[in-house]
Amino acid sequence: TLDTPLLEIRNLTAGYGAAPVLHEVDLAVPAGRIVAVLGANGAGKTTLLRAVSGLIRPSRGQILFDGRDLCTVRVEQMIRRGIAHVPEGRGVIVELTVEENLRLGGLWRGRRGAERAQLDEIYDLFEPLARRRRSPGHQLSGGERQMLALGRALIASPRLLLLDEPSLGLAPRVIAQTMELLRTLRDRSGMTVLLVEQNVHGALSVANDAVVMSLGRIAVRDSAARLRTDERLRHAYLGF
Ligand code: ATP
Repeated sequence: TLDTPLLEIRNLTAGYGAAPVLHEVDLAVPAGRIVAVLGANGAGKTTLLRAVSGLIRPSRGQILFDGRDLCTVRVEQMIRRGIAHVPEGRGVIVELTVEENLRLGGLWRGRRGAERAQLDEIYDLFEPLARRRRSPGHQLSGGERQMLALGRALIASPRLLLLDEPSLGLAPRVIAQTMELLRTLRDRSGMTVLLVEQNVHGALSVANDAVVMSLGRIAVRDSAARLRTDERLRHAYLGF
């Protein structure tokens, strides 16, 4: 129904080995919104994305996508369900060309004609990738690698995009372009985005809502507008 969030995390406890990193996290992400996940290094933001995409398994709690439990879905099936994850560091395979990297994102489909059309859509969206389609990943600039990582995720037309620090290491102009692209994807295609960022200003400029994580818990959740403007919240949770 309209009221069911696209992604719902309930009472999630998860981590690596015996010690949990995330403690009793609850988070609902409505369809068609961008939710920023903020917080200091080590707060658990990356771990949260890994749990949603099935790279680590919760020790307690539930993760529901479109009302269905994700906890039994295998990682390689996530993309088929409509979930794409762009990891920290982006995961571009630098020995492969731009086009080979993009094809990896569409591999699960296995339909050649459809793949060509999808590639062309990505090249329309990211013009520099079209020019460099035969170049190996290691020849790309940081901004181009970010485009490639995003393009590889988008080629499968995900409903939920999990993005881990897309602005890391990029020039301010490229960061602004990335945020603008996320806005376009949300507004034109209704894409839902969980956006982990250290770049608070960039993230709050595009997000509808934001959570601030601290020590593996969600310390605060509010609209991005309030977190930007409410001095008390900013001082308490964002340090500016
Ligand atoms: P950062 O911005 O530094 O990535 P973060 O908020 O994303 O921070 P996480 O990467 O989720 O934080 O890390 C949370 C905690 O989990 C940290 O204490 C970290 O040391 C620990 N951790 C992260 N990855 C692993 C791992 N593969 N094995 C064991 N512990 C890990």
